[in-house]
Amino acid sequence: MDFSREDLIRWDKEYFWHPFTQMKVYREEDNPIFERGEGVYLYDIYGRKYIDAISSLWCNVHGHNHPRLNNALIKQLCKVAHTTTLGSSNIPSIILAKRLVEITPPCLTKVFYSEDGAEANEIALKMAYHYFYNKGERERKYFITLSNAYHGDTIGAVSVGGIEIFHNAYKPLLFKTFKLPSPYRYCKEKYGELCDECKEDLLNRLRNILETHHGEVIGIILESGIQAAAGMLPYPKGFLKGVEKLSKEFGVFFIVDEVATGFGRTGTLFYVEQEGVCPDFMTLGKGITGGYLPLAVTLTTEEVFNAFLGDFGEAKHFYHGHTYTGNNLACAVAIENLNIFEEEKTLEELQPKISHLAKRLEEFKELPWVYDIRRLGFMAGIELRRRDGEPFPYGDRIGFKVAYKARKRGVFFRPLGDVMVLMMPLVIEIGEIDHVLDTLKWAIEDTLRAF
Ligand SMILES: *Cc1c(COP(=O)(O)O)cnc(C)c1O
Repeated sequence: MDFSREDLIRWDKEYFWHPFTQMKVYREEDNPIFERGEGVYLYDIYGRKYIDAISSLWCNVHGHNHPRLNNALIKQLCKVAHTTTLGSSNIPSIILAKRLVEITPPCLTKVFYSEDGAEANEIALKMAYHYFYNKGERERKYFITLSNAYHGDTIGAVSVGGIEIFHNAYKPLLFKTFKLPSPYRYCKEKYGELCDECKEDLLNRLRNILETHHGEVIGIILESGIQAAAGMLPYPKGFLKGVEKLSKEFGVFFIVDEVATGFGRTGTLFYVEQEGVCPDFMTLGKGITGGYLPLAVTLTTEEVFNAFLGDFGEAKHFYHGHTYTGNNLACAVAIENLNIFEEEKTLEELQPKISHLAKRLEEFKELPWVYDIRRLGFMAGIELRRRDGEPFPYGDRIGFKVAYKARKRGVFFRPLGDVMVLMMPLVIEIGEIDHVLDTLKWAIEDTLRAF
């Protein structure tokens, strides 16, 4: 080794600009530099061990350093790492496309590859717009979106997003959308809970927008089942199904972002299964490679695909692609990820863990700083506020302070503001879930005792 641990810490602070990170603060702190992983554990350069309670930003599924995923990767690596899919193909991307079509709702029959969730959504937006363009419906320019939505950080994805603190600065660069309120916040404020009445109210608002504007609307885009990045805000049950019905009635597209919820996080492989929804576009990312390599997909229907077919001279094709679209290594790992789901019965094994998590979250209600607890399947968020119910000032970074404390006892968290996020790898064991929750409870109490 021609560098020391101290060099790494220094160089990290000197050269590396981290995402979603206030670097002024980061450089004053002692943040872990991870060196290796094993199952649900991560080890930093000092050999300190942490449970990865956020699945390395919501993507790890079967654990780190998984022998089967490693082997799949190495096997493919010994053949070829990358070949272009612009006008040629490769074995793993063909097999994966077929597998994805088989396991997603039946109306989805085509797979378009990209590398990150933002791109997958960007592609869905462009395809949806381009579909109508190819059909000669050129006045359709608008998407309907939700407040508090998060679809990624590229300009198109930000345009259909709605998280003030992330997106406000870019407003002048964004395209216009029609907005519905954030279901969770709206229902809580107006009805006190997520109820059927609120769902109907929201759907009526959507109907109003569609009645006034449907001729200019391309489609509606939303996250599947829960607004995750906004702080784990679930929708009322049946909301997705209602949106699907309305989009069919008015002839606009329904675009469902399963980037966070896909690959088991909500208890089923995809959340859409729980409401029997088949959208016109579905985007996947994060867990698709089990958390190994950047890969994302946009799935769509025969109807959409066919609108891009024509003689070459008609120039109807989808002029979009990335250098690494359909990367051989990423697709090979993604196939093995699915094999593990099937052979190790990951979803069956997950069900008791979901019940255990639900039960143990109840205990957090006793803490005076716990304002709200929200959960969909194995995704959960605990919102912290002052005892009087007012939010802590943004600059106080309470969520981070709790997370830092938990790290000292070997659990790695990254909060969303003051929402403590629980997004544990699906392979985590009950005892480890307990350790995560005990640590979190202690960290909340120890940090907030004086507040
Ligand atoms: C993380 C996320 C994205 C963005 O994915 P990236 O791979 O970070 O670009 C999009 N949508 C949802 C719902 C997400 O949680």
